[in-house]
Amino acid sequence: MVLKLEDVSKRFGSFTAVDNLSIAIPEKEMFGFLGANGAGKTTTFRMILGLLDATEGNVTWNGQPITYETSPVIGYLPEERGLYPKLKVKDQLVYLARLRGMKKEEALEELKKWLDRFKVPEYLDKRVEELSKGNQQKIQFIAAVLHKPKLLILDEPFSGLDPVNVEQLKEAVLEIKENGTTIVFSSHRMEHVEEMCEHLCIMHRGRPVVHGSLKEIKRAFGKKNLIIHAD
Ligand code: ATP
Repeated sequence: MVLKLEDVSKRFGSFTAVDNLSIAIPEKEMFGFLGANGAGKTTTFRMILGLLDATEGNVTWNGQPITYETSPVIGYLPEERGLYPKLKVKDQLVYLARLRGMKKEEALEELKKWLDRFKVPEYLDKRVEELSKGNQQKIQFIAAVLHKPKLLILDEPFSGLDPVNVEQLKEAVLEIKENGTTIVFSSHRMEHVEEMCEHLCIMHRGRPVVHGSLKEIKRAFGKKNLIIHAD
């Protein structure tokens, strides 16, 4: 098991945002967290990344906590997108990739490949603020994967995208998975998670309501439909 959460809880004062979550995610798997607003998905991701300390429990990756040293092999698409609006796509993404140990030329080459793949090679020299929100999101996705991470955490990667862009991004995520990256992602929407993930966890108000394979989850819920609040 590559990524393990053992009895993990997070409290903010007297409020419990994540309550006793235990999950083990095997290497090279795609795992989905599903839940409505406030379910605790982002808080869970921040604990995995070491951006937040768990109040209780342990998070480990290959038996060790994720630290500054391991961060170069991790890719993260945060829910609140964080690119600098005034900087050019090229300058910003190459800079970020270099921070993660990539050479400038290699990063630039990889970035061009991604822009070609999304059929937007002209974005290379555009400032982020010149792009639509959806396209900024794609650029932020590229920023998360440019350095070929071993573990990729995507917080609501499809929210706010039109169906064409959702499909494009899904294909890219599946390809990254095929290349051996472990991927954890969150969504409000069952159809995203069930199409893409081997296993998933449904969270509600900080609690893992159920987790397992889609088959196991459907069995646990019997004939009832799984209805999660839409975006
Ligand atoms: P969303 O889809 O809206 O992002 P989420 O499942 O990612 O939802 P979280 O962002 O993890 O949920 O939030 C879980 C709960 O914890 C929410 O009620 C939120 O207000 C609360 N929370 C998150 N961070 C903090 C914080 N730093 N201080 C206090 N409460 C917080």
